[in-house]
Amino acid sequence: MPYSLTRHPFPPAQRRLRLGARTVLARAGADAYVRLRLVEAAPGELAGFIAPGGGDHVRVVVGSADGGSVAVDETGAPTGEARTETVVDHSVDEGWIDLDVLVHGEPGAELGLIGAWAARAPLGSPAVMMGPKGSVVLSGAPGEVVLAGDDSALPAVRRYLRMLGPSITGHLLLETRFEAALFTPAALGIEPPAGLRVSILNPDPQRPSAALADALAALPAPAAPLERFVFACGEQSLVAPARATLAAWGIDVERAVVKGYWKR
Ligand SMILES: Cc1cc2nc3c(=O)[nH]c(=O)nc-3n(C[C@H](O)[C@H](O)[C@H](O)COP(=O)(O)OP(=O)(O)OC[C@H]3O[C@@H](n4cnc5c(N)ncnc54)[C@H](O)[C@@H]3O)c2cc1C
Repeated sequence: MPYSLTRHPFPPAQRRLRLGARTVLARAGADAYVRLRLVEAAPGELAGFIAPGGGDHVRVVVGSADGGSVAVDETGAPTGEARTETVVDHSVDEGWIDLDVLVHGEPGAELGLIGAWAARAPLGSPAVMMGPKGSVVLSGAPGEVVLAGDDSALPAVRRYLRMLGPSITGHLLLETRFEAALFTPAALGIEPPAGLRVSILNPDPQRPSAALADALAALPAPAAPLERFVFACGEQSLVAPARATLAAWGIDVERAVVKGYWKR
């Protein structure tokens, strides 16, 4: 049965949270993957929160990495830059949400806004979370899938794999520095079903996501384009070649998820 991909918009929401816990899931060279548990700053902040789609994401504004407050304007809206992160798991009843953040840089000298905060902010540090703005929900059962992602897309790939279930077939292409921790449940927890052909690609720091784009283009065209669901997310430069591959396969881009998750 052909699958469908439906986009559901959600009303704007802004929620005040605090850093409740952090767990270092994995390290690879100078990078780490850190799970953040954000908890409600006051009861009810997460009321109505839903994230039913595999790639559903929120925007988070944090203060300084030493735990400073989040600057807001006169309406209470945060004025700082937000970072977008995939919803890993959440419980409205218990008042928490988990995000997995890729952190670059040696311990103590981590880069980035949310990266440094994820690594170093004291427990209790405030954050403001917006969204999800909407949800992209996959329904029906695709005949096969192609899931292609870089390290920033690992949380979304993991959610899609869980939603697609154990009998799915197709290809899993991962451009990652975290190969050693990829399949360990207590680490990154990617669980590819037996029917997925897994390719681990080496990231080239000078050409991030180039290996993903090439591997995607080298896959055989689908026998039934309406049956192949494609998720391809990584560095921004992945988007144009991934769309070209979809066009060559006869797949409408609206029936796929192709996104730049970050910019070099
Ligand atoms: C829909 C969506 C979902 C996303 N989900 C996640 C997620 O679940 N987990 C996650 O970690 N990220 C995710 N991202 C990417 C995320 O938004 C940020 O780009 C990332 O967290 C970096 O933020 P930062 O503040 O630490 O670094 P920044 O201040 O943005 O950048 C600091 C430096 O690190 C470099 N950099 C940033 N990202 C990478 C990277 N992936 N590889 C190599 N260098 C990089 C930048 O070029 C810059 O030089 C998602 C993005 C989108 C659009």
